[in-house]
Amino acid sequence: MSILREIPPLDVHVPVVIVGAGACGCVAALAAKAGGAEVVVLERDARPQGNTALSGGQIPGAGTHLQKAAGIEDTPALLAGDLIAKAKGKCDAHIAERIAAESAKTVDWLVETHGLALSCMTGFRYPGHSAAHMHSPPHQSGADLLAGLVNAVERAGVDIVCSATVTALYADDGGFIQGVQIARPDGAIEHIGCDALVLACNGFGGNAELVRKYIPQIADAPYLGHAGNRGDAVIWGEELGASLKDLGSFQGHGAVCMPSMTRLGWGTMSEGGIQVNINGQRFSHENTGYSEQGLKIRSQPGGSAWAIWDSRCEASVAAMHNHIDCWSQGAIKRFDTTATLAQFIGCDEAALVATLKDVSEGRCAFGRNFGGKPPLQAPYLCAKVTGALFHTQGGLEVDTQARVLRNDGTPFPNLFAGGGAARGLSGPSDWGYLSGSGLLVAVNLGRIAGESAATLVRRT
Ligand SMILES: Cc1cc2nc3c(=O)[nH]c(=O)nc-3n(C[C@H](O)[C@H](O)[C@H](O)COP(=O)(O)OP(=O)(O)OC[C@H]3O[C@@H](n4cnc5c(N)ncnc54)[C@H](O)[C@@H]3O)c2cc1C
Repeated sequence: MSILREIPPLDVHVPVVIVGAGACGCVAALAAKAGGAEVVVLERDARPQGNTALSGGQIPGAGTHLQKAAGIEDTPALLAGDLIAKAKGKCDAHIAERIAAESAKTVDWLVETHGLALSCMTGFRYPGHSAAHMHSPPHQSGADLLAGLVNAVERAGVDIVCSATVTALYADDGGFIQGVQIARPDGAIEHIGCDALVLACNGFGGNAELVRKYIPQIADAPYLGHAGNRGDAVIWGEELGASLKDLGSFQGHGAVCMPSMTRLGWGTMSEGGIQVNINGQRFSHENTGYSEQGLKIRSQPGGSAWAIWDSRCEASVAAMHNHIDCWSQGAIKRFDTTATLAQFIGCDEAALVATLKDVSEGRCAFGRNFGGKPPLQAPYLCAKVTGALFHTQGGLEVDTQARVLRNDGTPFPNLFAGGGAARGLSGPSDWGYLSGSGLLVAVNLGRIAGESAATLVRRT
């Protein structure tokens, strides 16, 4: 991955080139095309997948038509407030506010103009959500979300060129991107010129060396994101002199079943479930966020814990695609008594009973308020879980037009970024990730980047 100065003879010139065919790249393509630009999307895989296909497909939006129809009251101010509060004020508030302000327009446009089958999620609220912000395809499947986006891109007449890894950018001394080099699986090299480039190639979760360098605390955890997200945007950005922010930031997850590596629906915890260690004892406030719960579990003996919930909690997640996977992999077990549950965990039954009694009587050494949730009741559901890395949250600093910024704060002339390639809204670490923030940034910065790129090429 490099920046090259001398551009060779071009195979083709396309005004707007987009690197990566995940949610960000697809939405950027739709927006650039709608803005009147000719566009191509370049994707390294043989078919688009990315983190988007692995995700739960849940996109926050504040004030959407779907929410209004469902009687949900929500505003951009509420969503921006939730994002900034979760990040303890350490994200870029201007970007958070812009994205929150655009979020309803983006969801409405995806549903009403591009036919995406989204609906409001009302079963449970994620930590830090002060309104029911989430919209998702049926069964919360990211693969369904991406399939809908790819179909829309094809219907819009934009080519997604697969098996095309962008290996270098051609930039002049002023940082103007003239084109890209792509490598094909058979070793062929091609060159595509452009007037604007959108980096939608996500972060560096798939690059073990960069993860160890910037986020050593999660480097030994399983990585459940897309292997092809190798940090190319960060590598190019560094060489170009772009401003890179929050490289130590990431979304972890604290409900990944062992050994299946499937993830429990978070309603198991937010509706009143708990996690205990091998001693049958709780070790955390489980519901501050699933991201930060990952490292809390990894600090326990054996780097693992046991999630315990009941059929009331289960009802909130029973239709979720990823949760159904946990059942089909045999990761979730059912126990009628505390004796059999303790035996499964390998802990002392008396210790486990004491833990459950504390919870049912509202006692918590970690400040969790079970407020209004009925005590857990047999039969208990239980899965052995660990903490994992889902995706990185640091990246290229962009302005409210999704223009990539230099270290001195000025924008590059024709370089845009969104999704996981850009700095996220989580602040410096794992505790600032508000659920849904990944796709929120992907689809909204993607739309803004596509619109900005189209505006730029119309002028040139
Ligand atoms: C298990 C899991 C669950 C998640 N659940 C949710 C959720 O429910 N809600 C939410 O908001 N977020 C969720 N996330 C995060 C979310 O998936 C991401 O934030 C979002 O999908 C990022 O979109 P993107 O378009 O930036 O990246 P991606 O979807 O990863 O797309 C990037 C694309 O770029 C391609 N690419 C990379 N480098 C190159 C190159 N050099 N040349 C060509 N192509 C390249 C990749 O192959 C990939 O297809 C989840 C993540 C994981 C891993």
